[in-house]
Amino acid sequence: MRKIIKNAQIPFNGIMTKDNDVLIEDGIIKYVGQLKEKESKNNEIIDASNYYLIPGFIDCHGANGYDAYELKQMAIDYASRGVTGFYVTIGPESNQEYFRMFEECRKAFGSDYLGACFLGIHLEGPFLSLEKKGAMDEKKLRQVVTPEEVEELIDAGADVIKIITISPELEGAYEAINKFAEAGIVVSLGHSMATYKQAMRGIEEGATQVTHMYNAMRAYEHREPGIMGAAILSDDIYCELIMDCVHVSEEAMKILIKSKGTDKIMAVSDGDIKFGHDSSDRETEDYIIKDGAIYLKNGVLYGSTRDVADHFKTIIVKLGLGIPDAVKMTSTNCGTHMKIKKGKIEKGFDADFNFVDSSFKVRKTFISGQEIIL
Ligand SMILES: [Zn+2]
Repeated sequence: MRKIIKNAQIPFNGIMTKDNDVLIEDGIIKYVGQLKEKESKNNEIIDASNYYLIPGFIDCHGANGYDAYELKQMAIDYASRGVTGFYVTIGPESNQEYFRMFEECRKAFGSDYLGACFLGIHLEGPFLSLEKKGAMDEKKLRQVVTPEEVEELIDAGADVIKIITISPELEGAYEAINKFAEAGIVVSLGHSMATYKQAMRGIEEGATQVTHMYNAMRAYEHREPGIMGAAILSDDIYCELIMDCVHVSEEAMKILIKSKGTDKIMAVSDGDIKFGHDSSDRETEDYIIKDGAIYLKNGVLYGSTRDVADHFKTIIVKLGLGIPDAVKMTSTNCGTHMKIKKGKIEKGFDADFNFVDSSFKVRKTFISGQEIIL
């Protein structure tokens, strides 16, 4: 059955447009505009008068803490926050463990499931700089990238791996970047001490993204601007940004937005589902949660309890930008970068969206045109 969302205020070409009808059929947006009275007949009508209608959030770097829940639970948790598409992030592991995880993802998402759409795996490792390991287990990091291991990963996981984070300065990394990019995997530079030159070489070899800009990378310096300088000067590069106001300050976020614009920044949660959505200050056996950020007991910043829905609100309320820019950074840019039909309320796109109220809180979530009721 066809559905029509009536009186929708939606972002389009950088502005909010009013009084739209959105026609949905088979989970796809078929039309956006004004339907005639008779065309609306015999369809299910959903009124969106009191809300903004925005594309569902997409998180390309989150869902860490794999073993804490079943993967299917992760899809449900995400949907409950207005995130309609996600990439499962897996840190450095042995190849055996990687292969097990690839299989688990295929099993969990190979048939019907409830909740947000599994869009693939983001391998955050294992070829990352020891010096910028952050909270990662250093025993599992590889400091030399061998063609054999690259081939093994591509052979075993090219169907599910959609993004891989690599430090370009490691021995063998340039060749690996080239190979992964050739296999259709998005290469993201990060957890790295790369110089500007090394980062630019990584970009030449096929990298198109930077992993959590500012965090776990060489600091920007006047004579050595590092990955950050390369990302800012390369217009085509997309930057992840953890917009929780702890991993990156408000001012630093504003600087990045001013230099990169709002078309190439992707808000990511770097979240860990073990911690749920509870941002209150507390301490567990292994972690300290403060101001929404998760720290190891030794003080190292580990992750965030805030998610992309929180970032949406932060962009508007704290950074002072409008809904269209917030939508780009929390949804559209990732969809465009990953070449998927998600992240826009336009004809031909998947009918994944949120109803958001005047305080920018998600009130209803639809995935493939179906309201998610959890
Ligand atoms: Zn990381």
